[in-house]
Amino acid sequence: MKVVKFGGSSVADAGQIKKVTDIINSDDGRRVIVVSAPGKRFSDDVKVTDLLIQLGESIQLGVSHKEAYDQIIDRFRSIIAELGLSESVLWDIKKKIDDAIDQVKVDPKGIDALKSCGEDGSALLVSAYLNHIDTKASYVNPKEAGILVSDQPGGAIVLDESFERLYQLREREEILVIPGFFGFTPEGTLVTFSRGGSDITGSIVAAGLKADLYENFTDVDSVYCVNPMFVKEPKQLTSLTYREMRELSYAGFSVFHDEALIPAFKEKIPVCIKNTNNPKAKGTMIVADLPEREQHVVGIASDHGFLNLYVSKYLMNREIGFGRKLLQILEDEEVSFEHAPSGIDDMSVVIREHQLPKEKEEIVIRRIKDELKVDTVMIERDMAMIMIVGEGMNQTVGIASRAASAFREAGVNIEMINQGSSEVSMMFGVKSDGLESAVQSLYHAFFD
Ligand code: ASP
Repeated sequence: MKVVKFGGSSVADAGQIKKVTDIINSDDGRRVIVVSAPGKRFSDDVKVTDLLIQLGESIQLGVSHKEAYDQIIDRFRSIIAELGLSESVLWDIKKKIDDAIDQVKVDPKGIDALKSCGEDGSALLVSAYLNHIDTKASYVNPKEAGILVSDQPGGAIVLDESFERLYQLREREEILVIPGFFGFTPEGTLVTFSRGGSDITGSIVAAGLKADLYENFTDVDSVYCVNPMFVKEPKQLTSLTYREMRELSYAGFSVFHDEALIPAFKEKIPVCIKNTNNPKAKGTMIVADLPEREQHVVGIASDHGFLNLYVSKYLMNREIGFGRKLLQILEDEEVSFEHAPSGIDDMSVVIREHQLPKEKEEIVIRRIKDELKVDTVMIERDMAMIMIVGEGMNQTVGIASRAASAFREAGVNIEMINQGSSEVSMMFGVKSDGLESAVQSLYHAFFD
């Protein structure tokens, strides 16, 4: 039994939805389907979720929201017309959007209900079309499915009770179509996961149903070992471990949400990334253990938009609790951090830039100076992180030296190095303007 998730580009228009239903019907095991909201049809297009967010923000600001509203309804209307479905499907979708708009008007937190309408509409559409072509299918709302989440709007976390409830869905005989991206708190409030979160729903559903495979259909043949924007036709990865994929997707591999692996991993359900536009391609398998392989480094991930909060204080190493107090200040100000490499008298905390807007930066710096009596505190913005990833790295001598040579050849200064004790990845911090050339040079060092 397979749980299959289709991303936004796979449900972007009627033609794509026909490909989706062909894929579902080509394999009897594909019984539970999770869908994203209609995504981009061409590069300048706007995703339905982004339109819904615009719509919600206009309502909150009290300005006209007609344009975004009409665009959303038109997207659904044209898909429904082209698929030859009844108008009643459009009325159902419209009713949910109108109800969500009323919710946003009384409570700004209601924006999650509005954001969820893209996925919800896709699921209504896909199930209606399956029935239209004589494949028995039902739309299943996440509430009915039993997806319970924490009350963290825009960043929900699944609650453990969900998995047992989801298991009941195995009884159902028809194909089930579940909208991705959201769940309900135990009190019944609709809350979404973080952006791109339909992957998370797919993984939760696969884990709950104890599926044999979680297939994640997107628009690439496989996961590449490096961002194809930086390197032309990079090597494709046919298999990866969960740990490798987690590290890669955390740092810029946008094919799969970095939080989506955990549920599948806990139940040891293999994940296969496949292409809706080329379903015959083998795709990339993500599994728990891999047989021995020669390649030590399997991927190079990179992402920009980081800052480095640098703190130094003479004899820091002797001051018990210094690190905790520093991180406590960040916790008090609700700033989450990514890495924290440290030296004898200094410590760097790497933070995503959007976590620390200028106003918060001033408060944090002042508190560090006043409360920790440091010698230096500095913030360096425009940082990028590059990670080289591979399970085989921990038994191999010389990886760091090869990487360092690659940075030297690219003429890029390494501002920071961090290797976690898991040794599945090694992270390098550089200034953003050196990112592309450093990644290209690393690719030549490890893959050419
Ligand atoms: N539609 C949501 C987003 O654009 C979730 C998803 O597509 O996975 O973030």
